[in-house]
Amino acid sequence: MTQWVTMKRPYNFSAGPAAMPQEVLTQAAGEMLDWHGSGMSVMEMSHRGKEFISIYEQAQADLRELLAVPEQFRILFMQGGGLAENAIVPLNLSRAGTVDFVVTGSWSQKSLQEAARYCAANLAASNEADGHTTLPMPLNWRLSKNASYLHLCSNETIHGVEWHELPDLKAIGYDSPLVVDCSSHIASRPMDWSRIGAAFAGAQKNLGPAGLTLVVVRQDLLDRALPICPSAFNYKTVADNQSMFNTPPTYAIYMAGLVFKWLKSQGGIAAMEQRNQAKAALLYDAIDSSQLYYNKVARDCRSRMNVPFFLRDESLSEAFLSGAREHGLLQLKGHKSVGGMRASIYNAMPIEGVQALVDYMLEFQRSRA
Ligand SMILES: *Cc1c(COP(=O)(O)O)cnc(C)c1O
Repeated sequence: MTQWVTMKRPYNFSAGPAAMPQEVLTQAAGEMLDWHGSGMSVMEMSHRGKEFISIYEQAQADLRELLAVPEQFRILFMQGGGLAENAIVPLNLSRAGTVDFVVTGSWSQKSLQEAARYCAANLAASNEADGHTTLPMPLNWRLSKNASYLHLCSNETIHGVEWHELPDLKAIGYDSPLVVDCSSHIASRPMDWSRIGAAFAGAQKNLGPAGLTLVVVRQDLLDRALPICPSAFNYKTVADNQSMFNTPPTYAIYMAGLVFKWLKSQGGIAAMEQRNQAKAALLYDAIDSSQLYYNKVARDCRSRMNVPFFLRDESLSEAFLSGAREHGLLQLKGHKSVGGMRASIYNAMPIEGVQALVDYMLEFQRSRA
């Protein structure tokens, strides 16, 4: 086990499933065969036994504390990922009425398309005309009267666009709840729950391994699922059964729980936000001041988690990536729909990793000058 503690691993910039904190992996490795003297691995435990219940309750409590989730919200541990939520949210919240969508990139586009099978999906605003590089201002949105809710993706993982502040819908006279897909920046910064009706996130970006989906939903929204909503995806059923209506993703919940403990040991979400700001500034400054690299996103909408960038001479892209791998910088290839490069710098990426990437980028640029 000691070789894991001291092992120097490459820096992994994957967009998801993404790098985990090394301390968490080391602890999980140490507890793999025997969790706390139980004689069992966590993945071998009954989800109804006292050992796993204690893991579940601790994870719930730690997440509630970290994200300052108010009492009137329920925290659900579900499965199916962000894409399943694109159906599960309208099945639970749309009342088969009208839902407003703000499209800012691939993920919110997919959400709209899937929801249209269950409700009247209204495209309230879109940044498609400028290639998903800006954010549409709320005052210009074409909002519906009596919409069931408004959906937006607060961090577009592929296009690298982030809402640095959630819109204040009440301030523009809109009373329907806001639903946010925060899959790729959950726990990277504090959340303003006063503006949120429901939020969901697949765990595999910033919380833990794939298989767990986090849903945080205001209690008063639990009463409106469509009759066709599958029981295992009905928020009220899941809430009433403490996320154990069916077998939850137990090992993924345990791993996320270790990540929550790690986040607390790092100073919590406010400390993570500061670090994430510093990491993003370091990388964007290097890109903006270079001759070779560029980023297309308007400065005030740039994601602190997912940084897509391009080489002005695209014929160098393969050489850039293979050199990066040789320098221990992994999974930098951009999403196939936009090309170029993408550095995902989630909570688990230390600033040393971003510095190593910046150093390599400058070295590569010099070698090609
Ligand atoms: C990754 C991601 C998803 C999809 O998650 P799956 O677990 O693959 O279903 C949805 N929304 C956003 C913003 C994402 O980053």
